[in-house]
Amino acid sequence: MPYIEKVIDGLKKNSPGQPEFYQAATEVLHTLRPLLEKDPKYLKNKIIERIVEPERQITFRVAWVDDKGEIQVNRGYRIQFNSAIGPYKGGLRFHPSVNTGIIKFLGFEQIFKNSLTGLALGGGKGGSDFDPKGKSDNEIMRFCQAFMTELFRHVGPTIDVPAGDIGVGGREIGYLYGQYKRLTSSHDGVLTGKGLLWGGSLVRTEATGYGSVYFAENMLRDRGDSLEGKVCTVSGSGNVAIYTVAKLYQVGAKPVTVSDSGGTIHHAAGINLDVLKQVKEVERARLTRYQELCPDARYIAATEYPKGRNAVWSIPCQAAFPSATQNELGGEDARELVKNGCVCVCEGANMPSTLEAIEVFLAAKTACGPAKAVNAGGVATSQLEMAQNASMQQWSFDEVDKKLRDIMKHIFTSASETAKEFKQPGNLVLGANIAGFRKVADTMISLGVF
Ligand code: NDP
Repeated sequence: MPYIEKVIDGLKKNSPGQPEFYQAATEVLHTLRPLLEKDPKYLKNKIIERIVEPERQITFRVAWVDDKGEIQVNRGYRIQFNSAIGPYKGGLRFHPSVNTGIIKFLGFEQIFKNSLTGLALGGGKGGSDFDPKGKSDNEIMRFCQAFMTELFRHVGPTIDVPAGDIGVGGREIGYLYGQYKRLTSSHDGVLTGKGLLWGGSLVRTEATGYGSVYFAENMLRDRGDSLEGKVCTVSGSGNVAIYTVAKLYQVGAKPVTVSDSGGTIHHAAGINLDVLKQVKEVERARLTRYQELCPDARYIAATEYPKGRNAVWSIPCQAAFPSATQNELGGEDARELVKNGCVCVCEGANMPSTLEAIEVFLAAKTACGPAKAVNAGGVATSQLEMAQNASMQQWSFDEVDKKLRDIMKHIFTSASETAKEFKQPGNLVLGANIAGFRKVADTMISLGVF
């Protein structure tokens, strides 16, 4: 569609050097084509041009003092992308690769993901190029305090409610929230992913990984299949990966891999969840430590991966759960997964598959759950945390878990029914994009030009 190409060319000109953002925009905008052709109101109201432009982009200096007494300077970001249907909501990522393009791709995806949950949440994202690896606990605290010292003026419980993402877990949310409270004297739940003693919700820690497996169950049930007895590969070994592994065991599947940026663990007997948690949540160590504790597992160093490939996807499986980071699963990886008999790919991470990989899965009719549907359980449970904070209640684990299951089912049904409506049954990438877009776009039209 020349119109879409023109918009994407425009992005490349006015936002140079943001390849991840162009990739996310290309995937979403091309799948909207049948909707745009069916209903001219979206083009007439210039929704496409408006929706690719963030409402507000904030960048700021984060200066802090390390343990040696030296001043360090990082850059902080908060991109408030779209607030049509609710307050901005989306995580904070601390990773050296963070730049404007990464935060924009994540914020753009978040708009449609949040809409798809059926909840009233706008889209935003933030973070910093700060690298938490190798930093002491005190350095992490001082960085978080410096970061919030600027961020606090841009957020609020009905304005913008950040959460965690790569490099930002319970510890970081604690330091960020402590500083917010000191600066504002307010205990108003402005962050989600909080500790259980100070306003957090049960299941929030597990939500993204659990939600990913619930989504896979919905996809497979729809095809008369299930996860029971399936060998599964999982990438990553952070929050999403750990609770994906945990839930896979609960539904009778066998997860056999995890990875980090240093390498991959292949444990044919099944990943040892207790050891994984000990290594990653307690010791904060590398996966070489897992192999020390489980000598029957194989460790493949990232330096040994074939060029441009990820070792996780060469290990035969029936279901794959990319749960580490963007573009970790390329076209060759996808072909190998299909060749090895993988029938289900569930994107726990944001944009883990390249555009080429998605085409391979769609052509092979692999059950392919797109990130903005699959990992929406995290943000949905964050909204449940906000609801508990606002009503000063705390719901039980089972209550929140049941709501999460229902939300994941709703998301699957919405993506699946929309794909059927546009005569592409089974194409959940298209279904999720159109369903998420339509609600935001129709609201933008109702609210007048902004
Ligand atoms: P964590 O920081 O807890 O874990 C990230 C994992 O991915 C680590 O094992 C990390 O390894 C690995 N990783 C990160 N970057 C790279 C890289 N460039 N190459 C190889 N491995 C890498 O993050 P989360 O588990 O929270 O997030 C994982 C993904 O899920 C991200 O895409 C995030 O945006 C997405 N997501 C997370 C949600 C949440 O609730 N936490 C919600 C929705 C989406 P290492 O430690 O070596 O860097």
